[in-house]
Amino acid sequence: MDDAFPPQRLQWAVAEASRCLMCEDPPCQQGCLAGVDIKKFIRALKSRNLRGAVSAIRDSNFLVATCGRVCPQGELCEKRCSATGLARPIAIGELQRFVGELAIKDGIKTVFPEPRSQGEVAVVGAGPAGLAVAYYLRREGVVVDLYERHALLGGVPGRVLPVFRLPRAVLEAELAFVAESGIPVRREEVKDFGELAGRYKAVFLGCGLGVSRGLDVPGAALAGVHQADGLLELANGESPAPRWTGPTVVLGGGNTAIDASAVALRLGSSKVTIAYRRGEAEMPAWLEHRQFALEEGVELKFLRVPVGVLAAGGRVAGVRLQRSEPGAPDASGRAQAIPIEGAFEEIPCEQVILALGNDLDGGWRALGIDAGPKGPRVDPETMQTSRPGVYAGGDLVSGGATVVQAVVDGRRAARAILQRLALQ
Ligand SMILES: Cc1cc2nc3c(=O)[nH]c(=O)nc-3n(C[C@H](O)[C@H](O)[C@H](O)COP(=O)(O)OP(=O)(O)OC[C@H]3O[C@@H](n4cnc5c(N)ncnc54)[C@H](O)[C@@H]3O)c2cc1C
Repeated sequence: MDDAFPPQRLQWAVAEASRCLMCEDPPCQQGCLAGVDIKKFIRALKSRNLRGAVSAIRDSNFLVATCGRVCPQGELCEKRCSATGLARPIAIGELQRFVGELAIKDGIKTVFPEPRSQGEVAVVGAGPAGLAVAYYLRREGVVVDLYERHALLGGVPGRVLPVFRLPRAVLEAELAFVAESGIPVRREEVKDFGELAGRYKAVFLGCGLGVSRGLDVPGAALAGVHQADGLLELANGESPAPRWTGPTVVLGGGNTAIDASAVALRLGSSKVTIAYRRGEAEMPAWLEHRQFALEEGVELKFLRVPVGVLAAGGRVAGVRLQRSEPGAPDASGRAQAIPIEGAFEEIPCEQVILALGNDLDGGWRALGIDAGPKGPRVDPETMQTSRPGVYAGGDLVSGGATVVQAVVDGRRAARAILQRLALQ
């Protein structure tokens, strides 16, 4: 599938960097969850010092090109950019992507010190959170044992994020440090978390989210009903993707629903509709991501609760939706969808994609650690759970957030683990 981001040239990047107002106390940096020294990297780029630019970003976020592509900059750094009031904000995300991809092309790699500790720390999950722990500890000479149940490294960005938003080659290049710096990857699913916690001085849980939520309505098991993450993974894979022809309806309102709709179009769907149970203001998908879907020609329908999948010849023939109206806020603070009696609508389609979120896997509960609102409860500064020496971060703790948030969690945990190792 084609790369959705056209390549940029150095001339453009230097000109864009030169528009930066070099604020005394840059608001963009406060908007960056990773706290990247944006002013420093832009200043380095302006003077064509690529090495300086990339290391300024890597100090806070090792996934330079990846986050340049997938971070919701419009909701974070660029939203706070002072240039916004004057003209358009500086294209910080695109500049970061440019720096990251040029660094890959020019082979500008992190130089790691000789290992000084090995086999003392276990990291479960090679997603952004676990990899951040591995990277920032390796920079200090600590080599972790990395446990990953999948063949591919990278977690969701490595398998599920559409390759037209994040080409595999970009992520693979940013993860090459694992093999190159001698971090052992144990390709196994950790089942006995207690045994692991007893064997290592520190354990980090970066297991992400678990099982995709199903739909409990008649017809939900029909042929032609797909889970979004499985479909996205399939579409990214080596084997030929399915070819679709007729219309597709995507059920859900998050970023996964948007990605699934874009993939459905690329698989050949004649029309794609996203039906979301709540109102537009409640939709969790980022605004810029929603805009992307609209530009692709996807139709968005709000306040539609799925009540059935229609069948013809044993396959999907449509979805039945019930219109709803916004009610009182629920525990998440968002207005509930209250179905309107007798107000039904049927949309004919050949495929239905379920993008209804994921539930957490519960293996970590066997550790007896305290639970927070989503996953394990952690100290937000150290990411340590209620059991000393056991840390957690990323989607497992947040219930589903961003790549950059997972990196921040991993970096914080790495700092705390270093202190723990020093004290022992
Ligand atoms: C479709 C989709 C699109 C998204 N788009 C964006 C985006 O554009 N921008 C953005 O910032 N975020 C996006 N996100 C969210 C982002 O991908 C996640 O927030 C991020 O990947 C979380 O990282 P993590 O390391 O916590 O978990 P994950 O990425 O889920 O990684 C967890 C890893 O742990 C492994 N694992 C789990 N349990 C075990 C075990 N017991 N033993 C061994 N290994 C185990 C898993 O196999 C996996 O590799 C998107 C998510 C989805 C689903």
